[in-house]
Amino acid sequence: MRRVRSRLAAAVLVMLLAGCDAPPEYREQFLGLHTLVDVSFYDVEPATARAAVAAIEEEFARLDRDFGAWNETGALGRLNRALEGGGAVPITPELAAAIGEATELSRRTGGLFNPAIGRLVELWGFHVEERAPSPPPAAAAIAALVAGRPQAEDFVIENGAVRRRNPAARLDFGAYAKGLAVNHAIALLRARGIANAIVNAGGDLRAIGRHGERPWRIGIRHPRGAGIFASVEIEGDTSVFTSGDYERFFIHDGVRYHHIIDPRTGYPARGFVSATVIHSDATLADAAATALIVAGPAGWRPLATALGLEYVMLIDETGAAHLTPAMAHRVRFETDPAPRTVIVP
Ligand code: AMP
Ligand code: MG
Repeated sequence: MRRVRSRLAAAVLVMLLAGCDAPPEYREQFLGLHTLVDVSFYDVEPATARAAVAAIEEEFARLDRDFGAWNETGALGRLNRALEGGGAVPITPELAAAIGEATELSRRTGGLFNPAIGRLVELWGFHVEERAPSPPPAAAAIAALVAGRPQAEDFVIENGAVRRRNPAARLDFGAYAKGLAVNHAIALLRARGIANAIVNAGGDLRAIGRHGERPWRIGIRHPRGAGIFASVEIEGDTSVFTSGDYERFFIHDGVRYHHIIDPRTGYPARGFVSATVIHSDATLADAAATALIVAGPAGWRPLATALGLEYVMLIDETGAAHLTPAMAHRVRFETDPAPRTVIVP
């Protein structure tokens, strides 16, 4: 009875706050994983929602530590360092599972998503949040790292320990860790009986359930400037991930150098400024968005097919949107005028 009463009181409070006929949506934000994390709930008691957000915030802080490739206080940072010694290094089951999954994703993307290019990321200076101003690295240094052919398969896990077969390889989960993080967050919500929510980590999100009588509607940010480029409706269990050249970059002599590196050349990928993937699997969506940018204009469509992706949108340097037919059906453009579109069957 007390429970019913408090739930009613909470519902009344939310309705008062949100205006009388507004739906009972509740949102909270916090800073985590180096971005603004926004958690939305529908039809959930605020006290329950708040407790869930606190648990997610704590889990994201732990993941940031344990999956940060250069955080020496965390599991991955310590592993990277220990592997420099050459021998087999004991590994947590969690990291072993993540290396296994990332290796499988790398294989499925033909190595365009490559979690072993940590040295290249470091050479470019994108391993730190604020890159100190400096020109791009020397071509010879880039070529030397590419020649080392770092690959996910260079890490061999046996009997609770990992060995590195190739000293050129260094793990960086930057292109996949947000997928992992939103999965952990949704598991925490479900364990609390929450069925309608979105966990949005700076534009990378997983949604469950619906927004009452209607689906959730989410925005995809404009790759140049503020505001929303397009929106989509999602419901059930769906993830939406966007990779872009605007997240970490520097400009030198008028050229933009960004953080998504083509492992084949060692240079930032060219051709697309953002890639958005909608899929039921968050880690696949995350790795795929990164890999599609690397695949570029000539390679994105075969890669999307190989990965079984139905919903893909890429924005090129002229602002045109390249879409799969299903995605073209699903997005609503929010810019005026709407972008030029190229639908590729
Ligand atoms: P995302 O924002 O998901 O596309 O991830 C970009 C981050 O992943 C970068 O900041 C790097 O740490 C790392 N990264 C860059 N290029 C690649 C690549 N080709 N494969 C895997 N990880 C990459
Ligand atoms: Mg990614």
